[in-house]
Amino acid sequence: MFKVIKLKSILIALAALIAMTAVILGVTLGAKRAKSATAFSPLPKKTVVIDAGHGGADPGVTGVRTGVKESELNLKTALVLGEIFRAAGYRAVQTRTSENSTAPGSFDKQADMEARRETITRAHPDAVVSIHMNKYPDASRRGVQVFFATEASRPLAEGLQKHLNQTMNEPTLGRAFDPIFGDFYVADNGDVPSVIVECAFLSNPIDESLITNADYRLRLASEIEIAVARYLN
Ligand SMILES: [Zn+2]
Repeated sequence: MFKVIKLKSILIALAALIAMTAVILGVTLGAKRAKSATAFSPLPKKTVVIDAGHGGADPGVTGVRTGVKESELNLKTALVLGEIFRAAGYRAVQTRTSENSTAPGSFDKQADMEARRETITRAHPDAVVSIHMNKYPDASRRGVQVFFATEASRPLAEGLQKHLNQTMNEPTLGRAFDPIFGDFYVADNGDVPSVIVECAFLSNPIDESLITNADYRLRLASEIEIAVARYLN
C-alpha cells in the first residue's frame, strides 16, 4: 500500500512537472515567435500629408519688412516638416515641392485647390498639416495659430495648438491661442484629422524675421511633428 501510494505520488509529481515544463516551453516559444513576428513584419507606416499653401502665380501674403512671399516660406517650412516626419518613420506626402502651382497650366485657384485635395485623397493619410503664414491689420499681432474645419480635426487642432502655445507662443509672447474653427477647403477632409498652421504673422516685422530664419523654421517644424506624432500614437 505504502509503495503503491508512493508510486502514485511520484507519477502525479512527474505528470505535474511535465505539464509545467510544457507550459513554460509554450510561453517561451510563443514569446519568441511573437518577437520574431514583429521583427519581420513592421507595422505599416502612418501617412501625413504636408500641404505648402499657395505657389505659382499665387504668392499668398507678403512680408511687411522684406516683401518675402508666403508661398516661399510655406514651401521651405513644409519641406523641412516632411523631412522630420520621414526621419521619425512616417510616410510624408507633399502637395507641392517647388515654387510652381500644384495644378498644370495657367494659374486657376479652383484647379489648385482641387489638385491639393486629390493628393490628399490619393495618399489615404492619417493626418493633414497645411502650412500657411498669417496677416492682420493690427501689425502688433504675432504668434503661431492653428485652424481646423471639421469636428474630426478638433482633438488634433487642440493638442497641436496647446503644444505650440507651450513651446512657441507663451515663452516669447506670454500668451496662448485657441485653435480657430472655420470653413477651410483644404482642412475639410471628412474623417481625416486636418489642420492649418499659420506659422507667423508676415504683417509683424519680428515674426517675419523669425520665420525667414532656417533655424527657427526647423524648431517650429520639430514642435509641429512632436504634437502630431503624439496625437497619432
Ligand atoms: Zn495662406
